[in-house]
Amino acid sequence: MKIIPIPCLSDNYSYLIICEKTGQAGVVDPAEFSPVWEKIHQQSIELVAILNTHHHWDHVSGNTKLIDKIPGLKVYGHHSDQGRIPGQNVFLDDGDIVTIGNLEGHITFNPGHTTGAVSYYFEDAAFTGDTMFAGGCGRLFEGTAGQMYRSLNEKIGAHPSATKIYFGHEYTESNLQFALSVEPGNQTLQEKMTQVQEIRSKGGYTTPSTLESEKQTNPFLRCDSTEIQELFKQRKPQKEVTPIAVLKEIRLMKDSF
Ligand code: ZN
Ligand code: FE
Repeated sequence: MKIIPIPCLSDNYSYLIICEKTGQAGVVDPAEFSPVWEKIHQQSIELVAILNTHHHWDHVSGNTKLIDKIPGLKVYGHHSDQGRIPGQNVFLDDGDIVTIGNLEGHITFNPGHTTGAVSYYFEDAAFTGDTMFAGGCGRLFEGTAGQMYRSLNEKIGAHPSATKIYFGHEYTESNLQFALSVEPGNQTLQEKMTQVQEIRSKGGYTTPSTLESEKQTNPFLRCDSTEIQELFKQRKPQKEVTPIAVLKEIRLMKDSF
C-alpha cells in the first residue's frame, strides 16, 4: 500500500490510497478535481473509488468531475449522507468493508462533526476527515459533544496506538496552540509543537500523526487530564466533571480561540 497526500484548497488534504500489486487506487475526500487528476496521471494508476468521510463541500467538490472522467467509479459514504454526497453509489454502515485492488478498508461510523461522518481504515492507516485532526477535532456542526467524545475516544481511539492518522486539514499548528492554552504543563505537547513549527516553517505536511501521539497531545482525547479538568472546574464550578462535559467546554473554547 502506498499513500499520497494531495494538498487542496487552502488547507485541505485529499489522499490517494494505492494498491501497489494491482495499480488500483482510491481517493479520500477529493476536495478539488485538478490536483487529484494531476496526481493520478503522475502515478499512472487506475482510480476505482472515491471515499468520502462526510458531505461537506470542501471534501466532495472533486466528485462530479472525477465521475464524469471515469464512469463506473465507486463513490463511498455513510448511508445517512444519501443525497448530500455528489454521485454517492455505495451507502456504508459501521463495520462495512470496502476494497481497492487487494486492499481492504474497514469503516468506522464516527458522528459528531456531522451526523454521517465515517473513517476508513486500511492496514495501519486511518483516514479521519474532520473528526480527528492532529491536536484537535472538527466543530460540532450537526452532532453532540457526547457523539464526538465517543467517536474520538471509543471508536477511533480503540484502534492500535501505532495507527497512522491521516486527517482532513492542515490545522495542526493552530490546534496545538489551543492545546497548549488548556494544558500548558504537557511536556510531550510542548515538544510536538516545536517539531510541528519546524516542519511548517519549511512548508512541510504534518500528516500523518499517530493515535499514540494524539492520545498524548490532543485535548479532545485528554478529557481525563488533571490540568484540563482543573481548568474546567474553574470555568464551570457548579457543573459535574465528566469527560463529555469537559469535551463540550473545550470545544466551545476552541470555537472562539
Ligand atoms: Zn467538514
Ligand atoms: Fe473540512
